Amino acid sequence: MDNCIFCKIIKRQQPAKIVYEDEEVVAIEDIRPQAPVHLLVMPRKHLPSLKEAENSDGPMLGRLFTVAAQLARERQLEARGYRTVINNGPWAGQTVDHLHVHMLGGRVFHWPPG
Ligand code: 5GP
Ligand code: ZN
Repeated sequence: MDNCIFCKIIKRQQPAKIVYEDEEVVAIEDIRPQAPVHLLVMPRKHLPSLKEAENSDGPMLGRLFTVAAQLARERQLEARGYRTVINNGPWAGQTVDHLHVHMLGGRVFHWPPG
């Protein structure tokens, strides 16, 4: 997608702190962190949100979460816990229409979320 900020970051056309990448998944630091650790784990493939995902995207979706878990483990977040979130659509607060998992840690999170 030509005007997608995350596609531009993935293609290195826009700067970002990339903390992980492989052939399928890229993870960056959030530009406006909401916790001491706030990473965004996204597929290289442009998919606007979860609602566009098909059954064939299942392995990719799984990898978003296993990469998020690996990055949390590397940052010593496992013992205390961390949060993984996907916002889908306007009422959930999605602002970038390229599917991404937020991985947040380093502080206490409340439930239900605001
Ligand atoms: P959403 O609101 O769609 O669930 O999450 C989008 C996230 O992307 C927000 O937390 C926002 O701070 C982050 N974000 C938006 N633009 C950029 C950017 O250009 N670079 C980085 N690193 N993060 C961004
Ligand atoms: Zn995109």
